[in-house]
Amino acid sequence: MQTGNRIFAALIDLKNFTMAKYTAGVLFGEELQALYEDAKNNEFAVPAVNVTGTDTINAAMEAAAKVNSPIIIQFSNGGAQFVAGKGMPNDKLQANIYGGVSGALHIHTLAKYYGIPVVVHTDHAAKKWLPWISGLLDQGEAYFKEKKRPLFSSHMLDLSEEPLEENIHTSVEFFERMKPLGMAIEIELGVTGGEEDGVDNSGVENDKLYTQPEHVAYAYTELSKVGRLFGVAAAFGNVHGVYSPGNVELRPVILKNSQDYIQKELKTKPKPVYFVFHGGSGSPQYQIREAIGYGAIKMNLDTDLQWAFWEGVQKYYKKNEPYLQGQLGNPEGPEKPNKKFYDPRVWLRKGEESFVTRLQTAFEDLNCINRNA
Ligand SMILES: [Zn+2]
Repeated sequence: MQTGNRIFAALIDLKNFTMAKYTAGVLFGEELQALYEDAKNNEFAVPAVNVTGTDTINAAMEAAAKVNSPIIIQFSNGGAQFVAGKGMPNDKLQANIYGGVSGALHIHTLAKYYGIPVVVHTDHAAKKWLPWISGLLDQGEAYFKEKKRPLFSSHMLDLSEEPLEENIHTSVEFFERMKPLGMAIEIELGVTGGEEDGVDNSGVENDKLYTQPEHVAYAYTELSKVGRLFGVAAAFGNVHGVYSPGNVELRPVILKNSQDYIQKELKTKPKPVYFVFHGGSGSPQYQIREAIGYGAIKMNLDTDLQWAFWEGVQKYYKKNEPYLQGQLGNPEGPEKPNKKFYDPRVWLRKGEESFVTRLQTAFEDLNCINRNA
C-alpha cells in the first residue's frame, strides 16, 4: 500500500512536471520574466483582467484554467476598494490598500488549486494615487520578509499626465523599491483616451494619443538601469471604454516604430520593449494580433467583461422574471417559494459564467490558448 501510494504520488509529480510550463500560483521574478519573453517570442499576449471581488477573481481563474494559460489579474484603486467594501472607512486609503491586499491574498490562497499561474497586478496609479502604491509596497515588503515572495507581481504607475522626466524619474524610484521583491513595473507614455475609473481623458488632444519613439527610448534607457522587468503602456490611438467609432484611429504600427527605433539607436536585439495594450475593448482581432506582433505582451480587459457579467445576470432575470417578484408566489402557485431563484449563488453564478465565456474568447483573440503546456 505504502509503495502504491508512493508510485501514485510520483506519477502525479510527473504529470505536473510534464504538463505545466509555469508554477501554479502567483508568478514573480525570473518566472515572470520568462513569461514576458515567452509571450514576446511566441506572439501571444496575456489577458489582464480587472476584478472587483471574489466573484470576478474566481471567474478569471476559472477561465484561465479552462484554456490552460497564465492570466494577469489586476485591481484598479476602485476595484481594490470594492474588495474591502464600499462601506468601509477609507479616509487614509485603508480600503484601497487593504482591499488590494485582501484580493491578492485570495489569489495566493487559491491559484494553486485552480492549477494556474497568475500575475497579480494593480492598474493605473496617477500621481495622486502614489500613496496607494506606497501603502501596498509597505504591505508587500512585510509579506516578502515572511514568505520570500512578493504579494503583488507588479504595479502600474501612470504618470503620463506629468512631464516626461518626472514620469520616468518617479517610475525609476518605485522600480528600485520593487526590484528586490522580484516585482515588475508598468509605466504609461502618452495618454489612453476615453474614461476609466473616474479619470476622463476624452478631451485630450490627438498628438498625445500617439507615443513618440524617442520617449519610449528614454524610458527604456532609464528603467533598464534598474532591471529588465518593466512594461510600457504606449498610446497608439487606444481608448478606454466602448464608444461608437470617432476621430481616433488605432495605429499599432506606432509600437513597431518604437521597437525599431530603440533597436537601431540603442543597439538592442529586435523588439526590446514589452508593450501593454490598454483600451482595447471593441478592437477587431486583426488589430490586436498586429499589436501582439510588435511586442504587446499584455492586454487589459475591463469594459467588455463588465458587460458580460451584467449580461449574464440580465438574461437570467429575463428568463425567470415571474419567479423573481417576491419571496413567495410564481406561475406555479401563489404560495410557491422562490428561494432557489433569488439565492445570490444562482444569479451571481450566471454573471460569472457569462464572464468566463467572454474571457475565453479574449484568450483566443490574444493567441493565448494552452500557453501553460
Ligand atoms: Zn488602462
